[in-house]
This record gives sequence, C-alpha cells and structure tokens, in this order.
Amino acid sequence: MKEVINNFIEFLFTDVKDKNETKELAVLLRLTCLIFSVYYFIVAISIAFIQHYYLSLALVFAIGLLVGAFILTYENKTFLGLVLLNLVIIVFSTLLAINVGFEMDFHIAIFLNILIIYFNKSEHMHLKRFYTVFICTYLMVLTQFCDYYINVDVPWGFSRIFIRSLNMVLMACCIGCIAYSFCTKFNQAEDKLRSINENLERIANLDPLTQLSNRHHMNEYLRNVIFEHNRSGKTFSIAIGDIDFFKKVNDTYGHEAGDYVLKSVAAEFQNHMKGIGHVARWGGEEFLFAFEGMDAQTAYTSLDALRQKLERKQLRFKEFDFSITMTYGLEEFNDRMGIEATINRADGKLYKGKQSGRNRVVF
Ligand code: GH3
Ligand code: MG
Ligand code: MG
Repeated sequence: MKEVINNFIEFLFTDVKDKNETKELAVLLRLTCLIFSVYYFIVAISIAFIQHYYLSLALVFAIGLLVGAFILTYENKTFLGLVLLNLVIIVFSTLLAINVGFEMDFHIAIFLNILIIYFNKSEHMHLKRFYTVFICTYLMVLTQFCDYYINVDVPWGFSRIFIRSLNMVLMACCIGCIAYSFCTKFNQAEDKLRSINENLERIANLDPLTQLSNRHHMNEYLRNVIFEHNRSGKTFSIAIGDIDFFKKVNDTYGHEAGDYVLKSVAAEFQNHMKGIGHVARWGGEEFLFAFEGMDAQTAYTSLDALRQKLERKQLRFKEFDFSITMTYGLEEFNDRMGIEATINRADGKLYKGKQSGRNRVVF
C-alpha cells in the first residue's frame, strides 16, 4: 500500500518534458484536478440525495473533463490543461450555484482561478489583470442574477450543513495547495538567487589563479581589522612578500611553470595564515599578509618560519625540479601612519631586502 502511494506521489510530481513549461504549474494543476474530482464526486452523491439527478450526471462529466486536464499536463499541453480547469470551475460552480442554491457558496471556488492563473509563468501580466477583473465582474453579475431570478435553496438540515462544510474544506485544500506551491516556488527562486550571489561574490573577491583573496577583498578585510584595532586597540602587522627572480622561473621553465609556482606558494600561505591572519595576492608575484593581534617581532618569527619552509620546499613541474625563495618587508600598523603608509613602508623594506641579497624578512 505504502509503495502504491509512493508511486502515485512520484507520478504526480513527474517533471514536464517541454522546457517552455514549468513542473510547478503542472504539479499544481494535477493536484487541483485531483481535489476537484474528489469534490465533484462527493457533491454528485450529496445532491443526488436532494433530487438533483441531472446535475449529478453533469458533475460526472466534469470529472471526465478534469481527468482530461490532468492528462494534458503530461502531454506538454499544460496551458491547455490550465484553460480547461478554469472553464470547468467556472461552468460547474455556476451550474451548482444556480441549481442547488447560491447560499451554498459553490461560486466562491471561482476565485481560485485567479490564484491559479497568476501561478502560470507568463509575461502577459495585463492578461492576468484583465482576467481578474473578468472574474470579479462575472461573480458580481452571478450574485445579482441569483438574487433576483433564482429562488432555490437547500432547506435546513444535514444536507445543507454538509454541502456548505464541504465547500469550505474544498477552499481550504485548494488555497493550501496553491499557497504551498507559491511558497516552494518563491523559496527555490530565493535559494537560486542566493547561490548566484555567493558565486558572484566569490568571483569578485578571489584571485582566479591562486584562489587567494584579491586586492579588493584584502582592502575590505583590512578595513575590518582597522575597525577592530580602533575599537579594542588590538595590534596587527602587515607584510609584503615577493618571489625572488620569478621572471627567471618563467623564462627557464615556461609560463605554466610560473603559474604552478604561484598556486603552490599560495596554498602554503593559506595554510600558514590559518587562524593567525589573512593573505591575498596583491599583484603579479606579490602577496600581502596581515598578522592579526601580532606586533612586528611576533609576526617576524611567524613570517621567517614561513620563509624557511618555502626555501626548503621542492617544486616539481613536468620534468623540472626546482625551488624558489621569497623576500618580505614587514611593518607594524600604527594609527598615526594609517594603512596606506604602513603598506608603503612594508614595500620599502621589501625593496631593501631585494637589494641586500633577497630571501629574507626585513622589519
Ligand atoms: P625580483 O627578485 O627582483 O622580484 O625579480 P623578479 O624576476 O621576480 O621580478 P620582475 O618584476 O622582474 O618579474 C616578475 C615576473 O612575474 C614578470 C611577470 O611575467 C611574472 N608574472 C606576473 N604575474 C604572473 C602570473 O600570473 N603568472 C606567471 N607565470 N608569471 C607572472
Ligand atoms: Mg619578484
Ligand atoms: Mg614583483
């Protein structure tokens, strides 16, 4: 039994074959057709008890049309199914209202058409607005017509209570289904948008080759660190590192080997800076480090350990075995200087390091 139910649910949620149609609308139409079929079946039996035999037969015909609309959603004709469902609801709700009694609230189901039509992913908003006005006008005319010309009603008793309650249950089920579908659609769209935004943000912040932060993201990061420094007085240090004789690596082993070196050192930096600060690709073969909560002396110890680690690292690209070294300029941040001057001073020290033999940390 459980398997049959699962298979049926799977069948209900089958995707549409045509790319121009949406699964959400097809599923909503199938559910609505199903609910209305059950509803018309119960109504057909109920009104047979109060001698509306022809109308009962008409409702059996309505169920046939709903089955048709249901099938259309599997045949790449979802829009046709939508039109058919709308027509069935309008025609048979009207027939029931006129013949059984307007006070039974059969006509209220016609409002559902507005909700269903708005769920259809179509750009023709003016048609949807026009349809809403049409439904409203139609119901106004139907109300007046029934008030003046129709005088049938179900007398007090079980049938009256049952039919009116049934109509309320129908509305609750259908509105629940439609609201759920709108909610799911909205959540899916929001999730998709969020993931696209995250992706865009990642692309905007990351250097594509090394996957390190780019200059733009590092500047943002530094703004936060400075804010924290101003708030709590927490010190931090800045360092710029530059690969020694990198042009030679490109010239000797090729540009691809150069890219490989950049990626390798970036991974090493990322590892080293975990929990102690942040690193970014500042430009070409230059990297900027921010050591959070560290004065120059502490940052020097950490940075020199990194320098030695890189010096020892054996790089292998294709058939080439080689190693590289890096030179660093280090400066502790202070408010009077500001961040730009701090970076410039670190850069000056890097230059000094290059001039005095490379492969060192100058602070
Ligand atoms: P120094 O020790 O003085 O820093 O010498 P250097 O050769 O490293 O410095 P130079 O500024 O002369 O050369 C830097 C080179 O870095 C030149 C440029 O082609 C290379 N480079 C910059 N960005 C990239 C990149 O993304 N990939 C590769 N493969 N090379 C790059
Ligand atoms: Mg260099
Ligand atoms: Mg350079």
